[in-house]
This record gives sequence, C-alpha cells and structure tokens, in this order.
Amino acid sequence: MACGLGLPDAEDCAADHWSPALGGRRERNGQWRARCPVPGCKSLRSLEYDAPGRHVRWRSFCGLHPKEVVRPHLVKLIGPCMPGGRAPIRRTDLEALALSGLPPLALKVQMLVYSGMTIAEAFDKLGVDRTTRYRVQRQLSQFGDITAGQR
Ligand SMILES: [Zn+2]
Ligand SMILES: [Zn+2]
Repeated sequence: MACGLGLPDAEDCAADHWSPALGGRRERNGQWRARCPVPGCKSLRSLEYDAPGRHVRWRSFCGLHPKEVVRPHLVKLIGPCMPGGRAPIRRTDLEALALSGLPPLALKVQMLVYSGMTIAEAFDKLGVDRTTRYRVQRQLSQFGDITAGQR
C-alpha cells in the first residue's frame, strides 16, 4: 500500500499526510507545492507532488538540492507515506540491531540507514570499498528487511 498510515487513496495521503508535514498547498492545476524540505533552504514552492496513481509522486525544483539530496529529508518528514520510504525507527528495531551479532561495519551501515540514509549513501559516508559493500550487504540481508525500501 502506498500510504504508510493505511489510507487507500494516494490523493488522500498527499492531502492528509504530505501536506501538513510539508506545509504544502494545492495549486490550481491540482498539484501541491511546498518549500524545499532541506533544513535551512529558503527555496519556496520548489517541491512539487501529486497523486495521479497509486503512489504520491514528487519532484524537486530547488536549484540547490536535487532529488537525491532531498529524499532523506523527505523520508524524515513523510515517514512511512514516502514511496520506498521506511517506517520511523522503533525501539524494538534498535534492540534487534544491538542483539543481531552483526559485525561492526554492518552495524554502522545499518545505523546510518536508520538515520535516514540510503545504503549507498551510508557506504559512501563510511568510505566502504566495492568488495566490502557486497559482503556487508549480504550480512545485512541476513539480518532482516534492512534493505527494504532502499532500492
Ligand atoms: Zn499517508
Ligand atoms: Zn533546497
């Protein structure tokens, strides 16, 4: 389901969940516009979203922040209603991670993913090389649904 809070209709999700979280307003053409969700960015009306199908669709028109930069901030604000987004982190997730027996590097990667990064961003941040990425990714997929939503 597109909406993480259970609304069957993507348009309702855009109106009831996206708009309050982003301070978005619906414009005459039926699309919503909100300010760029990157903290400190003053770009108004640079985030556009609408719901023509099963999922809310969004684009960034911010001159400073392309889609990849905007995405993790949007995930933080929209949470489970974000297409491909993750549910907010729960205590039980942290507990499971702490008790998982994952090697330290995999543990760090997963913590960064919980903080809102994609797996690729977490690897970049930690300076992990290609061969190691493959290994860590396998360890993480054994841990659970970690890579879910991180395609
Ligand atoms: Zn929703
Ligand atoms: Zn911006």
